[in-house]
Amino acid sequence: MQFIDLKSQYKHLKSRIDERIHTVLDHGKYIMGPEVLELEQKLAEYVGVKHVITCANGTDALQLALMALNIGPGDAVFCPTFTFFATAEAISFVGATPVFVDSDEETFNICPKDLRKRIIKIKDEGKLKLKAIMPVDLFGLPADYPKLNKIAKEYNMLVIEDAAQGFGGEIDGQKAGSFGDIATTSFFPAKPLGCYGDGGALFTNDDDIAELLRSYRVHGKGSDKYDNVRIGMNSRLDTIQAAILLEKLTDFPQELSNRNDVARHYNSSLLNNFLLTPKTPTGFISSWAQYSLRAENSTTRQEIMQNLKNEEIPSVIYYAKCLHLQTAFKYLTYIEGDFPIAEKISTRVFSIPMSGYISKDTASLVIKKVNKSNNSQS
Ligand SMILES: *Cc1c(COP(=O)(O)O)cnc(C)c1O
Repeated sequence: MQFIDLKSQYKHLKSRIDERIHTVLDHGKYIMGPEVLELEQKLAEYVGVKHVITCANGTDALQLALMALNIGPGDAVFCPTFTFFATAEAISFVGATPVFVDSDEETFNICPKDLRKRIIKIKDEGKLKLKAIMPVDLFGLPADYPKLNKIAKEYNMLVIEDAAQGFGGEIDGQKAGSFGDIATTSFFPAKPLGCYGDGGALFTNDDDIAELLRSYRVHGKGSDKYDNVRIGMNSRLDTIQAAILLEKLTDFPQELSNRNDVARHYNSSLLNNFLLTPKTPTGFISSWAQYSLRAENSTTRQEIMQNLKNEEIPSVIYYAKCLHLQTAFKYLTYIEGDFPIAEKISTRVFSIPMSGYISKDTASLVIKKVNKSNNSQS
């Protein structure tokens, strides 16, 4: 059994993907070929935003977003501590200061209550400018944007949605990728919509921001790429990856629906005695980038994961270490205990197989083995 079944997906889409790749090989426009523009238009339609700008990966997308919003030294950017490293890395990389925020115990996403507390603290200290909030749609579940956007407005801050895992999610019919001043996503193979290499994209409704992003991604180009009006990056999506994504996007709604079927199956059949199944608030739809369970404590997690391993059921911990405890962020001088909920989650959470191609039988087998292991806990 695979943790994320990319092989079945390729088998299903093979003839269409192979044909698309060959079309690119034949026309030879390997960089910024017609498929890139076609994909950007299709993504904009799917998410319901005016502009999509593809780029080289999800980390670059975050960096480009920060650059386009002119965020740098002296700026505070609030983000969760329980997320993938890239979220805060991009903030640091542009010279701004990541200000970590604790998680919501139920959703694992950034906690609006704790966010407000930490905003007030930074404001009172008066050293950093309150500049932006960078929520993450962790494991595919959109962060609580109705609350977060209200807080952002109140303190006159920008919102950058890190939808690297969230693509396909929704709140009340509105799609992930449309909740911030800029949203970003990643097409890393294991993400809900992945390519066969690295890829990323930015989403915005703002014409000026879109123009800036298009400039920054090609060496700060002006009227053409040899007219350079600002310091930018080289961060384009390969035409071949765009071609692959076009075919994958066609089947994405079906895959998303399959993922949600698997999640419902897991939710309704997994026993809750020593494990908690993930909660999806009313009105929210997750893209189930990961299906993450929470064990009663770290020992239980370790035992259940070992049992699953013995039964050849893969499981993975996302994420065992909060960002405020990472060596690279030592300079921010946080200590253990600063984010009690996030720290608790990181010692207990683990993810089980999820993809758009898990059969009913496979899901049932996973359920059986997890329940068996869960029941053997004392
Ligand atoms: C994967 C991921 C990224 C980075 O995407 P890459 O394409 O790997 O650079 C950023 N943020 C989060 C939350 C992610 O999961």
